[in-house]
Amino acid sequence: MSMLPDFRYIRPTTVADAVAALVASPTAVPVAGASDLLPNLRRGLGNPEALIDLAGIAALSTIEETANSWRIGAVVSLADLVEHKGLHAVLPAIGEAALSAGGPTHRAGGTIGGNLCQDTRCMFYNQSEWWREGNDFCLKYEGDRCHVAPRTSRCFATYRGDMAPTLMVLDAKVEIAGPAGTRMIPLAELFADDGAAHLALAPGEILTVIEVPKADRLVAHYAKLRIRDSVDFPLVGVAAALKRDGDKIAVLRVAITGTNSAPVVVSLLDSLVGHPWSDAAAKHLTDRLNKTAKLQNTVTTSMKYRRRVLLATARRLVEQLWEQAV
Ligand SMILES: Cc1cc2nc3c(=O)[nH]c(=O)nc-3n(C[C@H](O)[C@H](O)[C@H](O)COP(=O)(O)OP(=O)(O)OC[C@H]3O[C@@H](n4cnc5c(N)ncnc54)[C@H](O)[C@@H]3O)c2cc1C
Repeated sequence: MSMLPDFRYIRPTTVADAVAALVASPTAVPVAGASDLLPNLRRGLGNPEALIDLAGIAALSTIEETANSWRIGAVVSLADLVEHKGLHAVLPAIGEAALSAGGPTHRAGGTIGGNLCQDTRCMFYNQSEWWREGNDFCLKYEGDRCHVAPRTSRCFATYRGDMAPTLMVLDAKVEIAGPAGTRMIPLAELFADDGAAHLALAPGEILTVIEVPKADRLVAHYAKLRIRDSVDFPLVGVAAALKRDGDKIAVLRVAITGTNSAPVVVSLLDSLVGHPWSDAAAKHLTDRLNKTAKLQNTVTTSMKYRRRVLLATARRLVEQLWEQAV
């Protein structure tokens, strides 16, 4: 049975101390709810010298409303997102996505920051050490070959976080703190489509705040397919946000998870703006999804099945939003 590696445990109370602790130890990693990191470490996936626990930083544990946005601290739990009445009243899709992640215990401990920054997953990676050793390991960790796509030089592990697509279609930005100071970037820019290096965080950087703009009359939803509805990662997940201007689309954004090494906003949907939702619009969305989703054999269900579910789910979701929007 795999055991946790030895590491130092450091629990700072300020962002500055957390960044300093990360800089002081090049192999240290941040941890929050630990519901993604610890199962990985138990499987021998990583050997950090120290864990820097962000959960003790009070400044990152609040949900604040400003004139134009909601600012959600990175260590706010998924359960608190589900239960926050103010946020839920105006941006229910955030609670909807949070409620769909894991089971009750994962949501009680798991944080929004950890959800966004969670590791990518693959059936050749999320395995015990002896299983992976039997396969000569893999490109993502300790090996030199991607078993999913052996002729390529990149890793195809899949990003399967539930929060990112919804926050992306709501146009969220993230605040990042690091040794060089603080910067704010669109959430989509946090991610890179590489299963072995999917986060655009520099050494010593942590996610501190997720900022979601208030948007008048924008309706949004998140839908996911999973094997067990009580607790499971998405086989595919789709978020959509839509605003109507009479019988025309004024805003339409769609983002997906469980398909690529990063959550992705489906591009080139602007041509649908100014027109009603229609069969032709649905066909355009399907074409764009087909071009965007790079499904691989990284999970137990077939690529073909997941693609069909993705297309049907996205279409149904946008239809629902079109009916709901006023
Ligand atoms: C059985 C099971 C089922 C699950 N099902 C789902 C699911 O359906 N959907 C889903 O999305 N997730 C699922 N998860 C994964 C996990 O529980 C959630 O994603 C959770 O929200 C992770 O948050 P955390 O705070 O526990 O992250 P942690 O485990 O603490 O951290 C996860 C990763 O993010 C990094 N990190 C954490 N916080 C920060 C930060 N502020 N800045 C920079 N890096 C940071 C850590 O270094 C680590 O690499 C599941 C896990 C298990 C074990």
